Amino acid sequence: MSWHEIQGHDAIFERFRSAYLRGRLSGSFLFIGVSGIGKKRFALALAKGLLCKKKNSRELDPCGVCESCLQFKSNNPQPKPTDIISTHPDLFYISKPVDKSFIPLEFLIGSKERRGEEGLCFDISRTPYLGNFKVAIIDDADYLNAEGANAILKTLEEPPTDSLLILIGTSTAKQLPTIRSRCRIIRFSPLPPRTLASILMQNEIVESFEQGLNLAKRSGGSYDQAKELYDDAIDKIRTELNKYMSSRYIDSVNLAAQLNNFIEEAGKEAPIRRRRFKLILNICIDHFRENLKQADSYESMQIISERLNRTLDAIEQIDMNANLPFIVESWSNKLN
Ligand SMILES: [Zn+2]
Repeated sequence: MSWHEIQGHDAIFERFRSAYLRGRLSGSFLFIGVSGIGKKRFALALAKGLLCKKKNSRELDPCGVCESCLQFKSNNPQPKPTDIISTHPDLFYISKPVDKSFIPLEFLIGSKERRGEEGLCFDISRTPYLGNFKVAIIDDADYLNAEGANAILKTLEEPPTDSLLILIGTSTAKQLPTIRSRCRIIRFSPLPPRTLASILMQNEIVESFEQGLNLAKRSGGSYDQAKELYDDAIDKIRTELNKYMSSRYIDSVNLAAQLNNFIEEAGKEAPIRRRRFKLILNICIDHFRENLKQADSYESMQIISERLNRTLDAIEQIDMNANLPFIVESWSNKLN
């Protein structure tokens, strides 16, 4: 099941849906789970469903076209949760600024001058603007300090009617007991490997399901972790290639072996293996073009242009569907 593009948290969705159908979906919740598994996305999808003005009144599915739903639209074709944090007048969202170690008190209860007249606790206490419901999300709840936590205790304990407060954190141990005891705790599990693999495919992080599955299994079910692992792998091969390409004499046997391994990791599908090899060659081409600009002698310029041409030839051969291990071998041999 995919509810509003949410994948992998079906049981939690069912819990919210049934509470909603019983007319009991309000109050304070604490979402807990490792980062990169979709807690924020889930919170926003829930908000969209609850705030929709035209939804089928028995379901939580947003209509997508009403005044409220339109506020959730993002210009980004592959929106990150932060892109869809909208200007919706009945949705309030705060998180820890990157340059702060805690969630600032003024985000919660307003600045010193206007204490209690602005901030999240004030916003959620007001009459809804568009419909008859309000949602507040406190992201990075791990970073609520004692002062911040104290400031919101009353709101957490007695949330305004027809409002939902969601705190998002990574572990219950990181929440103050006063917060934990006032919220219903919802535990999000890491994404199952197959689910994460298809999310990685959809976001074009990986080229094949097989590759996605491999990455998913190594990343503990976290999208963020998987993306980091993938970026690390590309960085590593880029560093390796730059090392090879910078030397006067290239150890072509080792280079070919390393490249074959890297291509192997992409899985068994031929078009994906070809794309991966092209990625490698393009990294080399960038390297050569950069080095050409800095070449300090005619001789080194000649070596670099020769290597550049051989690499361009190899790309042409890939496009003609030549046998990959053959191109890997002949290309690395011709670099010297
Ligand atoms: Zn709607």
